[in-house]
Amino acid sequence: MKYDKNQILDKFDNAKKVLIGIGNEFSVLDDDGNYNENKAEEVLAAYNVMAKKLGEKDYYILTLCTDDLIYKSELDSDRIVAPCGSIGRLQCPKGCDHKIYDEQKETCSVCGESLVPNTVNAPTYVEEGYLAQWGNYTAWLQKTLNREILIFDLGSGIYYPSVLRFPFEKITFYNNKANLVRINESISQIPEELADKAYNQHYNAVEYCKNGFVEWDNI
Ligand SMILES: [Zn+2]
Repeated sequence: MKYDKNQILDKFDNAKKVLIGIGNEFSVLDDDGNYNENKAEEVLAAYNVMAKKLGEKDYYILTLCTDDLIYKSELDSDRIVAPCGSIGRLQCPKGCDHKIYDEQKETCSVCGESLVPNTVNAPTYVEEGYLAQWGNYTAWLQKTLNREILIFDLGSGIYYPSVLRFPFEKITFYNNKANLVRINESISQIPEELADKAYNQHYNAVEYCKNGFVEWDNI
């Protein structure tokens, strides 16, 4: 760890481009898919602190959450991509028509099966739900090449590492002007080759965010 928390706060204040990855620690759905209202209140507060900190910066957010809570926050929906899907949209469980439906419809027009939420948990995930926004995200990333960028991995842990954790490490590695901040309550390790570009902390990422992107205990 090359940086301390105050240097990271300074970097955030001065950053023009910020990439934020949001992981499982922010999810308000439990393993059975139940929505946790109490946690939602806390996470929404954290998102709104994030929105305030980001202000007019050029940012993009990649979230692994499927609970759609982020869209109720003050963050700009046009700058958010959710590759794991959305519980607010529906699809055929077999994905036979590759279509995404709103909640008005109950069955697939092709096979007649009852529709299921359009998330990675669907038997056959219809990826058309996020691909257009994914295109916008990768185009945005292209424009960060060799530019100063501050990258956060907030609470992604072991979930879908090929979507968030590993690509964020790769971007940090190849861009000399990139810094990575990894906050995770269980797995906050940083690969050795990124040690002098990174800051990491074993800490709950929602708390970190809600506190204004700093660990409260030992400021
Ligand atoms: Zn079908």
